[in-house]
Amino acid sequence: MLRAQKSAYENPIRRIYEDALAFFFPPMCASCKERLAPDEDIFCGSCRSGFEYISKRFCDLCGAPIHGAPNEEKRCRNCPALPVHFTRARAALLYQGAVADGIIAFKFNRRLEMAEFFARTLFMFIETEMKGVRFDVLIPVPLHFLRFFHRGYNQAEEIGRILAKMLGIPLWTEVLSRRRATKPQTRLSHAKRHANVRDAFAARFTEPYSRAHILLLDDVYTTGNTLNACSKVLKEAGAWEITAMTVCRAIKSD
Ligand SMILES: [Zn+2]
Ligand SMILES: [Zn+2]
Repeated sequence: MLRAQKSAYENPIRRIYEDALAFFFPPMCASCKERLAPDEDIFCGSCRSGFEYISKRFCDLCGAPIHGAPNEEKRCRNCPALPVHFTRARAALLYQGAVADGIIAFKFNRRLEMAEFFARTLFMFIETEMKGVRFDVLIPVPLHFLRFFHRGYNQAEEIGRILAKMLGIPLWTEVLSRRRATKPQTRLSHAKRHANVRDAFAARFTEPYSRAHILLLDDVYTTGNTLNACSKVLKEAGAWEITAMTVCRAIKSD
């Protein structure tokens, strides 16, 4: 009885508190900072209309969008130069405009509520572009502990936790580790990017593992070097099949 009275009392208070919070801090678009309409989530309709989803026509190996007729070569021209260790890479969106603003806000301004939006975007990509593909485990690209300590969270892990639940697969955060801090790839010349991530990662499977299909997850594919370096150590530790997946892909850098 007492409990029933208490919850009846708590609910209106919470509602008033949430309404007040929304009044003083109305949800804003992650890109243009306009106030969101009640039916909008994270991005306003105008910013969202500029999203470029990667669908149907993309490189079989690295996932880069390709143009041309449907029966043309399914590999992009950058692929032969890459010694790749992942089985395939895939990204749902081009890294540009409002999405890029959103990723930056998510990473550096603690907009953690965006993790669900990005997880849903990836889930829809998997459902529509990778029909019939089954993953066994999700492994997020780790941050170095100093950066983790500074930021307080790993953006890939935040998305990965939700996506793993949507896919009904386990999230393994202990397998991959970052042995040394690396500089952000975007600030380096093309030549230095490979050296930057070489030997930066280590992998060790702590659970029984046999020919599983790994979903390796990061937020942005810039050159592919980070995902490639992670895939290399995962392969050396016994991984069988690796799909390297990112929310976004920056195509100009390749
Ligand atoms: Zn907007
Ligand atoms: Zn390619």
